[in-house]
Amino acid sequence: MPIRILACEVVSKIAAGEVVDRPASVVKELVENSLDAGATQISIETQDGGVRLIRVTDNGSGIPAAEVERAFHRYATSKIETVNDLEKIATLGFRGEALPSIAAAADMEILTRTDDEAAGTYLLLHNGKITKSDKRSRPRGTTVTVHHLFRDVPARLKFLKSANTEGGHIANLISQYALAFPAVRFNLVLDGRLTLQTSGSGSLRDVVAEVYGLEIAQQMLEIGETEQIPGVSGLVSPPSLNRSSRAYLSFFVNSRWVSSSLLARATEDAYHGLLMTGKHPIAIVNVSLPLQDLDINVHPTKRDVKFRNTQSVYSAVQKAIEKVLVKTPPPELKAMAPEQAATPSLWSVKPEGFTLPILRVLGQLASNYILAEGPEGLYLIDQHAAHERVLFEKIQTQRAEHRIEVQGLLEPVTLELTPAQEEVLKNKGELLSEFGFGLEHFGGRSYLLKAVPAMMTGGNLIEGVTELLDSVAGETEPAKRDEKIAQSVACHSAVRAGLTLSSEEMRALIKQLEQTKQPRTCPHGRPTMIHLSSHQLAKEFGRTT
Ligand code: ADP
Ligand code: MG
Repeated sequence: MPIRILACEVVSKIAAGEVVDRPASVVKELVENSLDAGATQISIETQDGGVRLIRVTDNGSGIPAAEVERAFHRYATSKIETVNDLEKIATLGFRGEALPSIAAAADMEILTRTDDEAAGTYLLLHNGKITKSDKRSRPRGTTVTVHHLFRDVPARLKFLKSANTEGGHIANLISQYALAFPAVRFNLVLDGRLTLQTSGSGSLRDVVAEVYGLEIAQQMLEIGETEQIPGVSGLVSPPSLNRSSRAYLSFFVNSRWVSSSLLARATEDAYHGLLMTGKHPIAIVNVSLPLQDLDINVHPTKRDVKFRNTQSVYSAVQKAIEKVLVKTPPPELKAMAPEQAATPSLWSVKPEGFTLPILRVLGQLASNYILAEGPEGLYLIDQHAAHERVLFEKIQTQRAEHRIEVQGLLEPVTLELTPAQEEVLKNKGELLSEFGFGLEHFGGRSYLLKAVPAMMTGGNLIEGVTELLDSVAGETEPAKRDEKIAQSVACHSAVRAGLTLSSEEMRALIKQLEQTKQPRTCPHGRPTMIHLSSHQLAKEFGRTT
């Protein structure tokens, strides 16, 4: 279709709003345009988190010379024409707003050529106005360059985070589009550094290997319910491979990257009973639906979609994942069952008038809870949560006093970082070394872990460090960032649920817990103990009313 200006009645039906609020949203719009143009190779280059420069080059259809200027008009699009088209949107874009919005907020260049033109068309724009236009050679496709984004919009500039944080958003964005389009070759260069490169082989597993590393890619299970409607395809982790954040859940509807609580719920429900509380799977799930069963026109950035039949989408996704999970061996239930037990109402989680009394250890329950007797009845202490509290306060004290105990590793551990994790490392590397982490670049996105805080040595270091990087990503407040690092170190150093403890070990843990400032809660705010008072006991046995 040629590029046309949409009629007023179509414009009035489009979810309006600002599409360009940060560098990553500019990159998103440009990459979506390249994908809509059928590109099989897309290169993205940014400088200074995209504020100084964003350049997106594709080998797509190009824009015919006669239409290039028109593309910069508001509501100029080649993707829809009438109100009816809004009900069956097959392209990523359709609002005709991205190019004019970006041109209004930056200096812009475009060079584009279609198959049947001898030379490409070049335009230079300042403040949305064309200041130069000529012909230049280039292969088929389009290159859009954005300079000095928001230079004249100080209000926007002020709210941007650091270049590294913006770079992290861009890296995450391109990772998601690469996962959505395995047949497209993506190249992402941040400040001259090749941050992500996919092969365009068409295999999702290949993209997962590039984004999350080979080890994860090899373990992922394939969902393949593509015959039915809605179709569900993608890769999900076995229950043994999980994360503490939902950042590893990627959802696509007809290859459009969406944020959908419905899809997240359907996915996580499929793992019901298979994961510990607070753990989440890694999942890349694409739902294929007939265009008319889907409304994309609900939000300006198009990340929200509305399903005509939510129940059928929910159950298709949940069942497809459940089906692949039942084929995998069951997880170690020993460590899990106790965490899933509900808290009976007669147990009080936060005993009133409590600093911590002297407790006498009676024994261990389900290799998870320490049973103890105190002057006011029975205490059940969660060994992992209690130890987490002890270690959290310990590492915070050590940090405040600049005497973190560091343990060098005899055998360095190799970490494969995602582009987003690498951005955190680049940004917060110094802070991590203050906490005792020694990380060295090894090549590509591989890093050698050479030292860790001493308390962490017994744990799974790969999981510990990658989760730590995930947990601080996007956290800009220094105090909260420090707290998250300390929480992460404590969590990955603390004794696990499911481990049998000796009486001495239990006594030592209770003693350490007694000395903490906040013995009643773990660093995440969950209770470390629950209490059954002597009075409640007597009541339950009918000895008193
Ligand atoms: P929309 O994508 O909503 O149509 P845009 O403002 O993003 O609006 O782009 C306007 C038009 O310019 C598109 O409809 C398309 O025809 C053309 N266009 C933009 N970028 C490209 C590209 N990389 N390759 C080919 N055509 C493009
Ligand atoms: Mg667009």
